[in-house]
Amino acid sequence: MVTAEVLIIGGGPGGSSCAWRLCRAGVDVLLIDKAEFPRDKVCAGWITPAVVDELQLDTADYSRDRTFQPITSFRVGLIDGPATDLDYGRPVSYGIRRCEFDHYLLARSGVRTVLGEPVRSIRREAEHWVLNDRYQAPLLIGAGGHFCPVAQTLGDDGGGQQPVVAAQEIEFRLDGPGESGCQVRGDRPELYFCRDLLGYAWCFRKGDYLNVGLGREDRHCLAEHVRDFADWLRRQQRVRDELPGKFRGHAYLLYDHSRRRLSDDGVLLVGDSAGLAYTQSGEGIRPAIESGLMAAETILQSGRKLGVAEGKRYEDEILRRFGRGRMEPHSSGWLPTGLRRLLGRSLLQNAWFARHVVMDRWFLHRDTRKQRPPP
Ligand SMILES: Cc1cc2nc3c(=O)[nH]c(=O)nc-3n(C[C@H](O)[C@H](O)[C@H](O)COP(=O)(O)OP(=O)(O)OC[C@H]3O[C@@H](n4cnc5c(N)ncnc54)[C@H](O)[C@@H]3O)c2cc1C
Repeated sequence: MVTAEVLIIGGGPGGSSCAWRLCRAGVDVLLIDKAEFPRDKVCAGWITPAVVDELQLDTADYSRDRTFQPITSFRVGLIDGPATDLDYGRPVSYGIRRCEFDHYLLARSGVRTVLGEPVRSIRREAEHWVLNDRYQAPLLIGAGGHFCPVAQTLGDDGGGQQPVVAAQEIEFRLDGPGESGCQVRGDRPELYFCRDLLGYAWCFRKGDYLNVGLGREDRHCLAEHVRDFADWLRRQQRVRDELPGKFRGHAYLLYDHSRRRLSDDGVLLVGDSAGLAYTQSGEGIRPAIESGLMAAETILQSGRKLGVAEGKRYEDEILRRFGRGRMEPHSSGWLPTGLRRLLGRSLLQNAWFARHVVMDRWFLHRDTRKQRPPP
């Protein structure tokens, strides 16, 4: 049996942030991921400045051999409709590639890892969690993303279907003959909302790479929406004639829709495993990192134990930080339902609304930026 004080399942931003904090405090952590790193993750790779702060990311070091695209403006509009350019005049977000970002964070955490091994079995034995009949620890962190086996073991609170966001994206290097045909600027990602406002699409250039994708609350006909968007981008001459390769899909829960349990005796869930992505924008990297750090703090402040009281404290902190939306019986959705019905699409074509509500509040969360003390 391989033992540790804490087992973490998943080496994405949630798991690696938790490991980073715990390892710095001298806790013996073992992190297991089914993938070998570097591994890719279906994601546009947009991070907000709070992520840089929370991670105390040395951006000069990071960007030396990796893509790190400052974003100073956005183009926001409707698919098939007009768009507005919103200029901030300074970096308000960054573009990263998940294959590089996740690998960097995992390596930096200094955690002991088992990579390339999926967790297939989880059982509680006396005071310990035992994974794959081989790894054992008193404490467990579920950071395995949307399909995390720990989340499946804990189940959901309150019944009912939880609407899932379904998304598809493609990321490719712009070094072929079509590069000169790409009109998307690195410092200005383009966001286009679906006409029914049930989702949005993006076209996001990060250095030499282009990421194109679309996510919707309603997964019905997703492939058709994606295909229509790609055709429209070509007609608008935003991208080259043919996007190389296939779109890849993934799913995740938005915070207000998630009924996943966040804790149980000796276990906490973080990131997508807990369903923490922001409801309006779908941004999930920041909540994964913040919850990973909160979970680590809970363990450290409780003298390295996780009983019912500690689980409750963690849940309370999540609610304080991300709001009580996940407790509401009829939550709003990607865009607030009332707004969708009453004001509809015309608002998205209004430059003031696009800047101060869509970008500043929903996507950049400029009202909730905070800095943590160094670990
Ligand atoms: C198309 C798309 C675009 C997105 N764009 C953005 C964006 O631009 N910005 C943003 O902030 N968010 C974005 N998100 C959301 C973001 O990708 C996630 O919220 C974020 O990755 C969550 O991090 P995590 O650490 O919780 O989980 P993940 O990053 O999913 O990591 C989970 C890890 O667990 C491992 N794992 C899973 N199951 C097992 C198992 N059984 N055994 C062992 N290991 C396992 C996986 O291999 C993986 O490495 C996007 C999502 C999608 C689908």
